[in-house]
Amino acid sequence: MTDNLDNTIPTPSCGGADLGQVKDHFELFHTEPYQDLFEYKRQFEGAHSRETVEEIAEWTKGWEYREKNFSREALTVNPAKACQPLGALFVAAGFEDTLPYSHGSQGCVAYFRSHLTRNYKEPFQAVSSSMTEDAAVFGGLNNLKQGLENSYTLYKPKMIALCTTCMAEVIGDDIGAYITTAKNEGHIPEDLPVPAAHTPSFVGSHITGYDNMLKSILNTLTKDQKAEATNGKFNFNLGFDPYIGNIRELKRILGLFGIDYTVLSDNSDTFDSPNTGEFKMYNGLTTLAAAADSINAEGTVFFQKYTTPKTQEYIVKEWGQKTYNFRPFGIKGTDEFLMALSAITGKPIPLELQQERGRAVDALTDSQAWIHGKRVALYGDPDHVLGLIQFLLEMGAEPTHIVVTNSNDDFEAEARELLTNSPYGQNGTVWGGKDLWHLRSLMFTEPVDLLIGNSYGKYLWRDTGTPLVRIGYPIFDRHHMHRYATFGYQGAINQFNWIVNTILDELDRNTIVPAKTDISFDLIR
Ligand code: SF4
Repeated sequence: MTDNLDNTIPTPSCGGADLGQVKDHFELFHTEPYQDLFEYKRQFEGAHSRETVEEIAEWTKGWEYREKNFSREALTVNPAKACQPLGALFVAAGFEDTLPYSHGSQGCVAYFRSHLTRNYKEPFQAVSSSMTEDAAVFGGLNNLKQGLENSYTLYKPKMIALCTTCMAEVIGDDIGAYITTAKNEGHIPEDLPVPAAHTPSFVGSHITGYDNMLKSILNTLTKDQKAEATNGKFNFNLGFDPYIGNIRELKRILGLFGIDYTVLSDNSDTFDSPNTGEFKMYNGLTTLAAAADSINAEGTVFFQKYTTPKTQEYIVKEWGQKTYNFRPFGIKGTDEFLMALSAITGKPIPLELQQERGRAVDALTDSQAWIHGKRVALYGDPDHVLGLIQFLLEMGAEPTHIVVTNSNDDFEAEARELLTNSPYGQNGTVWGGKDLWHLRSLMFTEPVDLLIGNSYGKYLWRDTGTPLVRIGYPIFDRHHMHRYATFGYQGAINQFNWIVNTILDELDRNTIVPAKTDISFDLIR
């Protein structure tokens, strides 16, 4: 407990000399009045002394604390995942004139909208049933009927993609029956497609929600359809991939091949719409007609198999369609994808892509020495992490601590196999179901050279001093990363660029003392 018993409350001024000077939060709270206020508040916080805090912080860096940390069961600290509806809204936004709808309280949808908006710096439209206490007691039917009617009347969608939140699931709202009632009572037209997905967030993660919603959308749009012959197209799905550059890169590659395709959930414009001065409510690029016709395709190609298990099972069983899984990250992954694409479609690999491969190999060879042998900690979704492991091993880097909160046994077996089969993966450990506080213990007790993950890794960077390469979702504190591809040969160059230049930045920081540590010939004229 601090012993500052001064009762004069410092009051930060909003006027006087500061009037008209709008300061951003980080600058504002560094000013003297706010610093005084923070100091004053300490007397009421029951805080331990600074010495004790430092002593305990030091203790949390050791093996004794690591064992305690890894034995915790009922608490998660900074998990590397988000909740189910986020993924459901994300995939829904890739379809034409589709309004993502979250059945639950207002706070949930506010979180999803702000999360996506902060990552993409783009407004994200989604509505909510805005359930409150009465709905929690009596059920959300009235909210849903009213919500659907308002949404349809105000925003004129061609499809409303509805998912649930924790609250609706805890009280057991039967959304299928509710939607039927809303249609029967004339709140929305009978023929308006309203795919619905149960997305309780106390199980699974955003990738589970993605899968549930994609399956429901395809099921709703292809109901009672199946042509005798195929339409000659291939469907492609990228999963919960935050890099809209990847969708554009995929379309470019398919265009070079001359393959007719449907991207199942093309949300590239949703998260990167052109600023024309006119507001456009919907930017999903997958038309409902194309999605409905996807049942008649030659096959469906997936890039995230651990994100889409239910959808894939549905397509195989209900559509009788062939599915393929690829991981086109790095040189080997892209080679495998392009060769398979060529074999499946009977089209040769375009010369332009062959030349791009050469350029990517050249770029990687130029700087590979900087990454070879570097020990790396990484975290994220299962498919995202597998793509990174594959790429890092290819570069001779050593994936060392791999943390996946939304893990499963199959993913872990596949990740371990990847590591085992490479000389650089022999010291790699896969930590399924663990969070970033576990990773902190790992990084303190067994330090690494590099950390790869989303913006939340910033705390680990601060704590451990390990340089952070921001790859993943969300990335709030750097701008425009999502515009780049991480996919294909071009994506290999991009990811490599981010990684190797972070290493070089760190090298500069560590060799900054003139005439002492700055022994480098890089800048000699
Ligand atoms: S965890 Fe549940 S309550 Fe929290 S935002 Fe997600 S759906 Fe809403």
